[in-house]
This record gives sequence, structure tokens and C-alpha cells, in this order.
Amino acid sequence: MSDSLVIGVLALQGDVREHLTALAAAGAVARPVRRPEELAEVDGLVVPGGESTTISKLAVLFGLMEPLRARVRDGMPVYGTCAGMIMLADKILDPRSGQETVGGIDMIVRRNAFGRQNESFEAAVDVRGVTGDPVEGVFIRAPWVESVGAGVEVLAEHAGHIVAVRQGNALATSFHPELTGDHRVHALFVDIARAKRAAESL
Ligand code: GLN
Repeated sequence: MSDSLVIGVLALQGDVREHLTALAAAGAVARPVRRPEELAEVDGLVVPGGESTTISKLAVLFGLMEPLRARVRDGMPVYGTCAGMIMLADKILDPRSGQETVGGIDMIVRRNAFGRQNESFEAAVDVRGVTGDPVEGVFIRAPWVESVGAGVEVLAEHAGHIVAVRQGNALATSFHPELTGDHRVHALFVDIARAKRAAESL
């Protein structure tokens, strides 16, 4: 295997390009992933923001849903933002018909919990594991985490609601660090993926 850490961005719908840029800035080789063969080649994966029902349906259509579940079960590092957080939830409240998730984080997520598109907002969020100033959280029709299982670490809350979590190698945020030019959350994820790969090569 080459030295460079390759992180994919699930490129079915959503803000793929912004994540590719943020991952590259955080020191990874970043690539779009649309096919199972491309998924098989990455060390980790970002599931972007967008529209979770659309991403879910396209993942089924592209034959990616089962391969995604298998790799996440296997411990592949994965980071979901907003719609991506919804995709990583073991359970969602009020799913739309035909909406499935990949799962991987033992949490219940409420879609559109922070309100509609025109109620989108920005807020400073303290994220455990990210040093320095709070992260500028961009919340766009954002979900929140209603509850988590015992194995899930809460990394951030906003207005009394959980907005960032980690379970093992899986990370999820309600907000969109890829839109701010601050790459510290992506760097945290790249560190998780690097540690996983180092542990495997022992
Ligand atoms: N509310 C959207 C959904 O259900 C997520 C919005 C976003 O990713 N910015 O997928």
C-alpha cells in the first residue's frame, strides 16, 4: 500500500467538492467515490451534506448501500456531515418513505430538527478533540442527535442538543465544517484514519 492516506467522499449528491478541498488541506489524498470498486480502495470515507433521502436512494441504485454497511461494520473510518450524519445513524426519526441509512453510530437522529432552510444559522461550537477557538458551525436544515447509546462519545452540543459525536472510527456533525475554510474537524478525522491504518500495519 502507498504511503498516502486516501480518503473518499461519497459523490452521489451534496457538497462533495468542498469536502475534497478540506480533506486535501488536512493532508489526505481525496477522491470522489461513486462505485463499489472505488469504495474498496479508500482508507476512509466522508459522507457529505445534501439531502439524505436522495443520497440514500442513490446509494441503493448504485449498489453501494451493502458495500458501505460492510466497510463501516469492518471499522472503516467514516465522517458524516449533516445529511451524512443522518446516513450514519442506526435509527432516524421521521424517515421519508424508502429512506435507509448505512448506520454505524448507535444514535437516534432527528432530521431537520433545527428548522427549515430559512432558519439556517451559524454558531460557535466547542468540539472536543479540536483545540483552539470554537469551530464556526454552519447549520443548514440541520439534524440533531436525539439520544446516543453507551458506546458513543458526545463531542459537541448546541442549545442543549447533541451536534457532534464519535463512536470508534465513526464521526458525525450536524454542521458543515467544509464550508468555512477551517479544516480542524477534517484534520481530526484524518488523524482517526491515520491511526487506524498505523494500527493495521503493526
Ligand atoms: N435536512 C437535510 C436532510 O434531511 C440535510 C441538510 C444538509 O445536509 N444540509 O438530508
